[in-house]
Amino acid sequence: MTGTDPYEILGVSREATPDEIKSAYRRMARKHHPDVNRDDPNAEERFKEIGQAYAVLSDPEKRAHYDRFGTMEGADQPFTGGDVRFGDLFDMFFGGATRTSPTGPVEGDDIRVEATLKLEDVLEGVERTIEYRRYASCKVCDGSGAEGGSKPTRCPTCQGTGMVSAIRNTFIGSVRTTTTCTKCGGHGTFIEKPCSACRGHGLQEERTSTTIRIPPGVESGQTMHVGGHGHDGPRGGPPGDLYVVLRVQDHPRFERRGKDLATHLELSMVQAALGDQVEFEGLDSTLELEVPPGTQNGDVFTVRGAGLPPLHGGPRGVLRLRASVRIPKNLNDEQRRILIEFAKASGEEAPRHESLGGLLGGLFKKKK
Ligand SMILES: [Zn+2]
Ligand SMILES: [Zn+2]
Repeated sequence: MTGTDPYEILGVSREATPDEIKSAYRRMARKHHPDVNRDDPNAEERFKEIGQAYAVLSDPEKRAHYDRFGTMEGADQPFTGGDVRFGDLFDMFFGGATRTSPTGPVEGDDIRVEATLKLEDVLEGVERTIEYRRYASCKVCDGSGAEGGSKPTRCPTCQGTGMVSAIRNTFIGSVRTTTTCTKCGGHGTFIEKPCSACRGHGLQEERTSTTIRIPPGVESGQTMHVGGHGHDGPRGGPPGDLYVVLRVQDHPRFERRGKDLATHLELSMVQAALGDQVEFEGLDSTLELEVPPGTQNGDVFTVRGAGLPPLHGGPRGVLRLRASVRIPKNLNDEQRRILIEFAKASGEEAPRHESLGGLLGGLFKKKK
């Protein structure tokens, strides 16, 4: 634990959702609560760190600040300051809502990472090696959290059940309450000599990578599920899963709608009027296009099979080309003369300023 990166302190990825952060915080706070770790002189400091990390990551503004500047704004505030609500603490120690069988092996947390691809990658699909950090079972203590071959002993407070009950006298009479055992944090076992490599967590952070095959046709926001590649479970619990959230980058030329693509086809005024045979660079090949005479600005040509493949197989979508007719600018005398000729030949009067002797002569003339 570095003590500076709140993501690292809570053991979550930078893309973790608020719910993932909350559950990581509860898990860590439960594990590192000073009451549970009475023998560890650093426990209180670590518990404070966890609280500060959560205060930063649970507040969208503070989290955005950290993501941008890499500093924990307000991290010097004490753990109880402001952002950690009483409800969270109460749930954490007395609710145990996320834990139905406290003493059984607990499944490791899921990990969520992002993979960015180019639009071209969507055509054939792509192989990606995802690098990420995960908590792996400690190799020194084999995940038990106990030092040098010693075994965790049964918790004397709860007799290994992980729960303690008490009778409380309240205004509605005496009520029997069952709460998570604070001595063992609900594990039912108690580590007398914590493993020095993992400080009794049973888990150690490692960098790892896994290679996935992203199929053709994927869209932004779709998630690939890689079973068993998440964090290892504490104390030998099964690992969680890895979720890879896909982001397909925008393309500078093509707009995507599902499996169809759209873009502009630039034509000169003459090409549009007379028609032409043009070559066009599609996403993965050069296309030959027959532009008919009399093409209007905004006309759409559809090229079948030049779009993207659908996710579950089948023919590729279409590419729609919207004609964008360029009107010439800064005409020279020759071009201007020909256009006036053209207007006359079309039975159209030449524009007024042209017939009155040039642009400047006509622009501000008042109509009589
Ligand atoms: Zn260990
Ligand atoms: Zn206990």
